[in-house]
Amino acid sequence: MNKGKLIVFSAPSGSGKTTIVRNLLAKEELNLEFSISATSRAKRGEEIDGQDYYFLSTQEFKNKIKAGDFLEWEEVYRDNFYGTLKSEIDRIWKLGKHVIFDIDVSGGLRIKRKYPDETLAVFVKPPSIDELKIRLKKRKTESDDKINMRIAKASAELATAPLFDVVIENDDLDKALVEAYGLVSKFVHFKKKEH
Ligand code: 5GP
Repeated sequence: MNKGKLIVFSAPSGSGKTTIVRNLLAKEELNLEFSISATSRAKRGEEIDGQDYYFLSTQEFKNKIKAGDFLEWEEVYRDNFYGTLKSEIDRIWKLGKHVIFDIDVSGGLRIKRKYPDETLAVFVKPPSIDELKIRLKKRKTESDDKINMRIAKASAELATAPLFDVVIENDDLDKALVEAYGLVSKFVHFKKKEH
């Protein structure tokens, strides 16, 4: 199979990585396709099954773990499983496209370890934990409990930033978008990764 490239965006929840990934997906010249993760968490707001995520029951998710269907998976929050199906990469590479991931820090690093030469791993850094809290509250999609759970995890996630290929600071979204475009464009147009 013709291998494309893998572009990972990881960050604490609320850092703005989803906005950055959506913006990049809209740039046709980058030839990117979104890796649709599987999750056992409940659908949120306007999310669509098979577009935002493959929504599975916890049992279905566990069956797929047993069957070895995942490239990586995590229990990101208690009882909330998330994972990348191996079939997703095949699907996208068959289309002749590059894969872009919006996944948590450990999943992102696992993909980089499995495909060191094909992967560009980008960490999106929020300005501060306080700002993160404000953004999550504004989003109004989760309860206070869930927001606190995400904040607690964020500090540990921030410590992993140096393990990524690049860190983008998202204190000004427009700047972060330009920076992300530059990095990805360079990576998909060059044959070899710079180590
Ligand atoms: P959310 O519930 O906000 O959609 O996602 C929660 C966290 O799970 C985010 O950090 C998101 O990037 C991460 N996530 C989404 N899909 C995957 C995946 O396939 N694998 C891993 N490890 N994390 C994921």
